[in-house]
Amino acid sequence: MTPAAPILLTPGPLTTSLRTRQAMLVDWGSWDDRFNQLTASLCEQLLAIINGSHTHHCVPLQGSGTFAVEAAMGTLVPRDGHVLVLINGAYGKRLAKICEVIGRRFSTFETAEDQPTTAADVERLLKADRSISHVALIHCETSTGILNPLSDIAAVIARHGKRLIIDAMSSFGALPIDAHTIAFDALIAASGKCLEGVPGMGFVFARKESLASAAGNAHSLAMDLQDQHAYMAKTGQWRFTPPTHVVAALHEALLQYNEEGGLPARHKRYANNCQTLLDGMARLGLRSFLPAAIQAPIIVTFHAPKDPRYDFKTFYERVKAKGFILYPGKLTQVETFRVGCIGHVSSIDMHAAVTAIAQALGEMEVLDI
Ligand SMILES: *Cc1c(COP(=O)(O)O)cnc(C)c1O
Repeated sequence: MTPAAPILLTPGPLTTSLRTRQAMLVDWGSWDDRFNQLTASLCEQLLAIINGSHTHHCVPLQGSGTFAVEAAMGTLVPRDGHVLVLINGAYGKRLAKICEVIGRRFSTFETAEDQPTTAADVERLLKADRSISHVALIHCETSTGILNPLSDIAAVIARHGKRLIIDAMSSFGALPIDAHTIAFDALIAASGKCLEGVPGMGFVFARKESLASAAGNAHSLAMDLQDQHAYMAKTGQWRFTPPTHVVAALHEALLQYNEEGGLPARHKRYANNCQTLLDGMARLGLRSFLPAAIQAPIIVTFHAPKDPRYDFKTFYERVKAKGFILYPGKLTQVETFRVGCIGHVSSIDMHAAVTAIAQALGEMEVLDI
């Protein structure tokens, strides 16, 4: 990699393999049988990752991840529904914003950015307000890298007979989620995160019965997943122009995912990346924001150095010149920056990134870490 093509240590878009990028060198017709087979094969493989082919449909949707989140909320929450949104970061806040914009009744429960939502919280909230029909949760809150206890929370929601919508955008493919043991109406993810495809489409695993009874719920034509699914089931085609190159790249990325060893191997590589990063940064004296027990191996938030000579923009540019793209912090109270562990990168790259960070801080004469 030359400095002109730096390694992206960000939560998406992220570094992809040459093979994945090369899969985009073909132009596909959306009516073409081979393209439709590619879509069908993609959906089948995605369902297999969550063990969900008996219980859920995979509905792909054009756009970035947020488009799929908005589509899932608008399609699966009926117009008279009431969503409890669990928040401990920016993506949780976005869920609440979506409810507001599309006109779904919602309540929020917010914990600090270093505090996972607990099953006990959800138990108490569901008991206190019987009108809640759905709970929306971020699995890995990418704004810090915190992991929320999905299976415990899902069990409480199921016991209360409520519906769960999971934004698993930054965890799907790397952290195990089994549709046989975790009950959910919708789980949302996208092409350009842990599957290491390119950005451009999301997909929603929607519980079959819930999707079947969702006709007429949607606030929008283009965001209607029930219609998207019904059209695809009937014709094999996407309802509107498909992101053909993105589909082809994701299909190729999934071949590599399976060759690597599927989810356990992906998880192991990211966990190694994360540990290499944490160890290396600790040697430099840089502290991570989250305790290890709640840190997902997806992205790590670090406290910025206290030295007045530190400034993120300069730091970013200097690290970029050495071949790595970092990510700004997203916290309001403390100054931080983030380093992603996901993408077509290994612990060798993470070692090199730590070296680049050390050199950049040295050049800036940042001493007070
Ligand atoms: C990346 C991400 C999204 C989607 O963001 P887009 O910018 O729309 O792709 C949603 N939720 C989480 C938790 C994410 O990490």
